[in-house]
Amino acid sequence: MHGLMMHRPLLISQILEFAAGNYPDQEIVSRTTEGGIHRYTYPEMAQRTRKLANALKKLGVTEEDRIGTIAWNNYRHLELYYATSGMGAICHTMNPRLPADQLTYIVNHAKDRFIFVELTFLPLLEKLYEHFPDVEGFVVMTDEANMPETTLPRVYCYETLLRDESDQFEWPEFDENTASSLCYTSGTTGNPKGVLYSHRSNVLHALFVLSVSGIPIDENSVMLPVVPMFHVNAWGVPYFGLIAGTKLVFPGPALDGESLSELIEAEQVTEAWGVPTVWLGLLAHKRKTGEGFSSLKRTLIGGSALPRSMIQEFREKYNVEAIQGWGMTEMSPLGTVATIRPSQRGDWDKELKLRGTQGRLMFGVEMKIVDAEGNDLPHDGESQGELLVRGNAVISGYYENDEATRQALDKDGWFHTGDVSVISPDGYMEIVDRVKDVIKSGGEWISSIDLENEAIAHPKLAEAAVIGVRHEKWQERPLLVAVPEQGVEVTREEVLEFLEQRVAKWWLPDDVVFVDELPHGATGKLQKAKLREDFKDYKLPTE
Ligand code: ADP
Repeated sequence: MHGLMMHRPLLISQILEFAAGNYPDQEIVSRTTEGGIHRYTYPEMAQRTRKLANALKKLGVTEEDRIGTIAWNNYRHLELYYATSGMGAICHTMNPRLPADQLTYIVNHAKDRFIFVELTFLPLLEKLYEHFPDVEGFVVMTDEANMPETTLPRVYCYETLLRDESDQFEWPEFDENTASSLCYTSGTTGNPKGVLYSHRSNVLHALFVLSVSGIPIDENSVMLPVVPMFHVNAWGVPYFGLIAGTKLVFPGPALDGESLSELIEAEQVTEAWGVPTVWLGLLAHKRKTGEGFSSLKRTLIGGSALPRSMIQEFREKYNVEAIQGWGMTEMSPLGTVATIRPSQRGDWDKELKLRGTQGRLMFGVEMKIVDAEGNDLPHDGESQGELLVRGNAVISGYYENDEATRQALDKDGWFHTGDVSVISPDGYMEIVDRVKDVIKSGGEWISSIDLENEAIAHPKLAEAAVIGVRHEKWQERPLLVAVPEQGVEVTREEVLEFLEQRVAKWWLPDDVVFVDELPHGATGKLQKAKLREDFKDYKLPTE
């Protein structure tokens, strides 16, 4: 027997109109690319979004058209999110830091009809546009006064497009499973793979995030998404932020510690979300100036492992709760969040251990670990296996890529995350490593992530990466590649002695190499593949 309840499609345009009507005086603040701060209210944002939808229609954009964006986190990008999806087109966010060949592949694979581009990235497109045969036009995200000379053909100015449009637009109603947005995963090997979100998956993901206990988000919250809007929809902030009625603060292009710190203080940000690298910069700035945070309550940190030393520093020096989240582009992205149950609070050392894990399930996601043959492994806190997930905001396939889809999904529809994990009986999941990053030493596995976590706690080290280097006897042994704190002398022996106190003896890196910087990918993640390539002929002293 079916329930007798209405079925209304879950659509992104509903978020926009609900938010504009329900939070009429809430603000959206952006640091602009041109310089300065832009601020307006939710209803003003909705008005401009409707104008943009009219402008897109005039350009000939219709349902299913892919509209590319190469942009920072700001109000115009937000308007694009809602206008494109709202009218039934697809918002295709692109990462400007991708290598040129990958960006070209993505534009052509997606068959973008128009590309909206930030002033910053105009030179990039000027070099590449000739390789984009399907793109009909480029829209520069600025106003007339700041419109530059450009060699791009068929160019439009964002503000000029909007100027004379009506701020009325009837958002169409369609099936909630309609595609809304597209984001390619960086992919360390091979071509990037397209993740095609639907209206339903985005709305549900937003509601799932808002249901996570321990990260309260409502009209009193001031949210700073440092995580880029070109990467997994800025972890959903543009959607759930509007549902909850938060004040949104967009950092634009200024992601250095000083600029972030200034914005956090000026706008009294309470929640800031981003990858660990960003917070390294912010904390370094705070250390230098000796300033604290007057409003910040929580940071949600994910994308790569959150070092315990960072959790400690945020808490002890600044009384800020650093919460680890884990997820993937393919999961919209959130899967788990390391918040602490009331019954587990009190003993900080124990708490710190839990906070150092990738966390507990968010509602709407299921997970399991399996061995190499695909057999389920127990959640006993010891068994290590590949993590598989399922859920309403997890992909059921890659966009026009059957081969990748076949590899990623098992026969029961579980998605292979490529992460090796352990799950404890009380539900905390801990990533041991990426399947491809784990160091295979004499038949045993060494977690590069654990080693990095310990190494980064050394006060003289600013950043650390551990990779497996070929070893005659052990097959692979760990090599620590570290960046010393600026202007600080540190020796290999000092670091190894420090680690000796903290990890099993057979885990100790066979060598330590100091470098000025580590390679970071387009989303700020360590590029282990690049590092492995750089050190592929490295001769360990233990050989
Ligand atoms: P990419 O586009 O590079 O794949 P994703 O954000 O989709 O970017 O990457 C997902 C992967 O990032 C996860 O499978 C996991 O390996 C890693 N990751 C994300 N969050 C964490 C975390 N909190 N700790 C450790 N690894 C993480």
